Amino acid sequence: MQTINRIHNFNPGPATLPVSVLFDVQKEFLNYKDTGMSILETSHRSKPYEEMQNQVKSDLLELMGLGDDYDVLFIQGGASLQFAMIPMNFATPEKKGSYVLSGSFASKAYKEAELLGVGSIAASSKDQNFSHVPTQDELNIDPNSAYVHICSNNTIYGTEYHYIPETNGIPLIADMSSNILSRPMDFSKFDMIYAGVQKNLGPAGVVVVIAKKSLIEKSPENIPTMLRYDTFAKNNSLYNTPPTFTIYFIGKVLQWIKNEGGLAEMQKRNERKANLIYRVIDESNGFYIGHADKDSRSTMNVTFNLQNEELEKKFIAESIERKLNGLKGHRSVGGIRASIYNAMPYDGAVALAMYMDSFRKRNA
Ligand SMILES: *Cc1c(COP(=O)(O)O)cnc(C)c1O
Repeated sequence: MQTINRIHNFNPGPATLPVSVLFDVQKEFLNYKDTGMSILETSHRSKPYEEMQNQVKSDLLELMGLGDDYDVLFIQGGASLQFAMIPMNFATPEKKGSYVLSGSFASKAYKEAELLGVGSIAASSKDQNFSHVPTQDELNIDPNSAYVHICSNNTIYGTEYHYIPETNGIPLIADMSSNILSRPMDFSKFDMIYAGVQKNLGPAGVVVVIAKKSLIEKSPENIPTMLRYDTFAKNNSLYNTPPTFTIYFIGKVLQWIKNEGGLAEMQKRNERKANLIYRVIDESNGFYIGHADKDSRSTMNVTFNLQNEELEKKFIAESIERKLNGLKGHRSVGGIRASIYNAMPYDGAVALAMYMDSFRKRNA
């Protein structure tokens, strides 16, 4: 397949997309399924559009192994708006949301609940610079909580949950923006999962919310229409105009995941890619300093430092010359971050590992 001079794209999000999907979208860009127009020009109230959106919903539930007790909503405003909608819809000062602070986004989610006076903290690894995910033993969940909120993969720090918290019947809500569909998981342990799609599912523009119908069928009376989950649930996410192109694109990515072998295959590939890079870190005699504790390492975002900032700058500059892009760490933590989501080909991980090896040999 012709790949038109593409780089190895390690950007954290928007992120690399499967090339075959990009071609497929290009192919039907001018005329979607013999409608004589682009999906971009199609009414969200039309039959072709609604069929497409319903297919995306059922494909997503199928890949997650979830039944019709779950619904899928498409909401704009990013995962960042979910940080506010969740406490608005579910928590009260008497029955707060309980947050596990495992990184930047987890903390931002808590902040919104705190602004509303409805947040409490179940655990935090801030003192350890978020180098690990709090363990089950570290969780101190108020039994009167409305829900427990976790961030399953900490995109900025490069840590990931390798267990599903036991909450003793309290609804479990997860921000899975950066690891959704990266591996099989018992998704039914969660009452609500949400993800900004620009990391693992498509281009920017929408958040998918996968939630138990019983949780989202009724929102408190005093919440504005567009901030209520029940508005989206009752109207099949068509109360207002959804980002139709992004949703269409998600459908293509879901088809791609299915065709490639589903979540088990994604896991196999993702572990292979991540292991390759972590091995270079571990065998570098301290030249590369991994940020995450080994038992909390993320398969999606590999974060590390070099001995000093100067060397890190050099590492980034030379990486770009080799068409390895997007490796600069988040502005809040610095260092290096390689985002290797589902769509990052094995070749990309190999190219990075080889570059890291040669850079070490030249600079150690
Ligand atoms: C990127 C990211 C966000 C922020 O998403 P927006 O769509 O930009 O609001 C939130 N949580 C996690 C885990 C992320 O990776």
